[in-house]
Amino acid sequence: MTTRDVGLKLVGFMATFSVRFLGCKVSFVDAQLSRERLLGDGHEEREGAAEVAVVNTCCVTHEAVSKSRQAAARAARTHRRVYVTGCASNLDGAFEGLPENVHVVAQTGADAAATIAGDVGALACVQSEPRLGRTRAFVKIQDGCSFSCAFCVIPLVRGGTRSRRAEMILAEVRRRTAQGHREIVLTGVNLGCFRDREAGYTLPRLIREVGAIPGVERLRLSSIEVNHVTGELVSALEETETVSAHLHVPLQSGDDRLLGAMRRRYRVEQYLARVAPLVRFNLTTDVIVGFPGEDDAAFERTLEVVRAAGITKVHVFPYSPRPGTATAADDTVPEAVKRERSARLRSLSDELCRKRWQSRVGTIDRVLVDRPGRGYADDYTPWLLDAPVGELVLARALGLSEEGILAAAA
Ligand code: SF4
Repeated sequence: MTTRDVGLKLVGFMATFSVRFLGCKVSFVDAQLSRERLLGDGHEEREGAAEVAVVNTCCVTHEAVSKSRQAAARAARTHRRVYVTGCASNLDGAFEGLPENVHVVAQTGADAAATIAGDVGALACVQSEPRLGRTRAFVKIQDGCSFSCAFCVIPLVRGGTRSRRAEMILAEVRRRTAQGHREIVLTGVNLGCFRDREAGYTLPRLIREVGAIPGVERLRLSSIEVNHVTGELVSALEETETVSAHLHVPLQSGDDRLLGAMRRRYRVEQYLARVAPLVRFNLTTDVIVGFPGEDDAAFERTLEVVRAAGITKVHVFPYSPRPGTATAADDTVPEAVKRERSARLRSLSDELCRKRWQSRVGTIDRVLVDRPGRGYADDYTPWLLDAPVGELVLARALGLSEEGILAAAA
């Protein structure tokens, strides 16, 4: 059933609602848009049971779709109406067979938020400034992707790349800092494709200008393709004081044959050369394990490249074929092999992560406390300390625990 079939029609009444998201930062931002819109329209957010649930879904792997389905089914038991939005909502049949109160809004971002808001209705008296988290704000600068990686379903469900106007982005950042957000995270599906041709902006210029806005105390990029890690970008990152020392640059494989088969637009040598100048930065990445044709030698090369690049954390994605992609019919690596390789790569990631943490012991850094007892330093390492949530605290790293770096106010 779609939202066009039945309207909730709560116009003039306050609805209670909950919002959750699955997947990446773009999904988080999309979920936030629905949340802000409903808060702004005067509805009340609740934890647990409520009248309306928004589930912003993910379809990057087969497992992500299953989890999205489960989340929608769970929400259907405790909410009168469930809106399923985001990437997986654009996949045909992904939510078939769910209860009648689950409504698929085959849209993303502001479009989905507007559809839901229209369906739920607004109160006569709306909140001009909704209550929101005050620690970090994720600001979307771009959506969609015009690359065509062989394994990736994202261009099919989110469309080609398109950018927000720089003026709108800068205005949103000013609004976020006025609300008290200390950290801004620029977010997009393929961030480096951001362009505002009319106003003459590419990502490096945007970074410099966002980073200089009064009140922006820390600026991060959610993720960037290595093709976009150019000299100009590195200069903007290095020369903008507020830019944090963390960069997430997807590798996907350390084997040239597989990178070619994946239709990635770089090879290992280029990846290593592009990230080499980022010595000050804590480098994290994504890797797909068990891509069709990945043999032991190719996997070993991936482990070597992860070490050689100085990566400290790997998000491991066991390959699963996605409908409509170039490799939809290919899945040659046995599941047991994928599991074993994923475990080895995660174990390497843990080792490199701890090495990074160890290197921070004895140093002082500014920690943005984003939940009780925990926050992130400038390089996005987790520091454990007692300080008020929302504060940027100067702290000294004292030692390590399983969850992060033990620290105290300096
Ligand atoms: S760059 Fe490749 S992996 Fe990333 S969203 Fe675009 S097509 Fe997908």
